Amino acid sequence: MTVDFAATRALFDLPQDVIYLDGNSLGPLPRATAKRLADCVQSEWGQMLVTGWNKAGWMAQPNLLGDRIARLIGAEAGTVMVGDTLSIKVYQALASGLDLLPKRRIILSNDANFPSDLYIAQGLCNSLGPDYQLKIVENDAIEAALDETTALLMLTEVDYRTGAKFDMGALTEKAHQVGALTLWDLAHSAGAIPVHLSQTKADFAVGCTYKYLNSGPGGPAFIYAAPHLIDKLRPALAGWLGHADPFNFSQTYEPKKGIARMRIGTPPVLQMAALETALDIWDLVDMEDVRRASIHLSTRFIAAVEASCPSLSLASPRDAERRGSQVSFSHLEGFAIMQALIARGVIGDFRAPNLIRFGFAPLYNTEDDIDSAARILAEIMRDDLWKEATYQTRAAVT
Ligand SMILES: *Cc1c(COP(=O)(O)O)cnc(C)c1O
Repeated sequence: MTVDFAATRALFDLPQDVIYLDGNSLGPLPRATAKRLADCVQSEWGQMLVTGWNKAGWMAQPNLLGDRIARLIGAEAGTVMVGDTLSIKVYQALASGLDLLPKRRIILSNDANFPSDLYIAQGLCNSLGPDYQLKIVENDAIEAALDETTALLMLTEVDYRTGAKFDMGALTEKAHQVGALTLWDLAHSAGAIPVHLSQTKADFAVGCTYKYLNSGPGGPAFIYAAPHLIDKLRPALAGWLGHADPFNFSQTYEPKKGIARMRIGTPPVLQMAALETALDIWDLVDMEDVRRASIHLSTRFIAAVEASCPSLSLASPRDAERRGSQVSFSHLEGFAIMQALIARGVIGDFRAPNLIRFGFAPLYNTEDDIDSAARILAEIMRDDLWKEATYQTRAAVT
């Protein structure tokens, strides 16, 4: 039961005269979300007050939404829980993984990983004691660095800067060969590419919903654990809503059965309502169709930009199979170039030191978007429009 992408595009409320190629940072607003949020505020919170936890089903949402995300990332029902932020879910997965392998003290990651993932891992190691270590290596040294001291291999499947995609299956297998566990960050995978968590035997995965999944700014994160691990997990952030019987208010912690033990505290009800509405669109599509369309758009964009902008160099893998759903080009003046693009209605983003980054989301991006964006970029480069003084000043969020 899949629909075509002209139909899904009509389900988004995109501003006129904007070409939005930054859904990899913040997904756009689904048309149905404003009304759903208004209903949640007025009819649920406003009228039901505290009874909304039962009557409106707020308390069950983290599980239900987790099961809907599971389909998009190749996971079984009952293995994904929604809540908190991605950084916190990274912490939870790492702490649980280290706890499962108490003789091993090393978290292995790569230097291109997203800073928050590395900071969280470092902070966790610091709090566990001097034996624990975050080891950071370059991408091509990962396999060689895996050994019987490695507890967890922590990688972001799709590089947030270059869009380069790791081979989740192959690296998970390498990690398992030395007895290590894997944690995959799906921030740039969920809703961007098909993910096969159960098939690849990944141990843990985490991701956010405000990027490709379109749950809105501050939307909750999710965490996955492989079915055979779930009932062995001892949550480090053991909160009352992960307790077997939270309303018994017991003094001693006892984890809930299943992935629900990864819940911590009160879930963000309004943000979950927004996620629920966004997932109504995802329910209409198949990730393989999304992938095919995404490769078509990104390949078309690369060809157009390379044909007309010789000073921009492709910073993403040329082989579409080795990319996620984003493409970056490098240029020393990347910041100003992106400002000039945004001023002309083409919204991508800039990642220091020199990358301009474009995300492709077939749910709402069309071939026309891609052609217009490439044409506008070509004009900016041909006429040096980025040199204007107004494009040189940086705001707090790039
Ligand atoms: C976007 C992103 C984050 C952000 O984490 P938050 O806790 O949601 O702010 C973390 N890691 C990666 C890899 C990301 O792409």
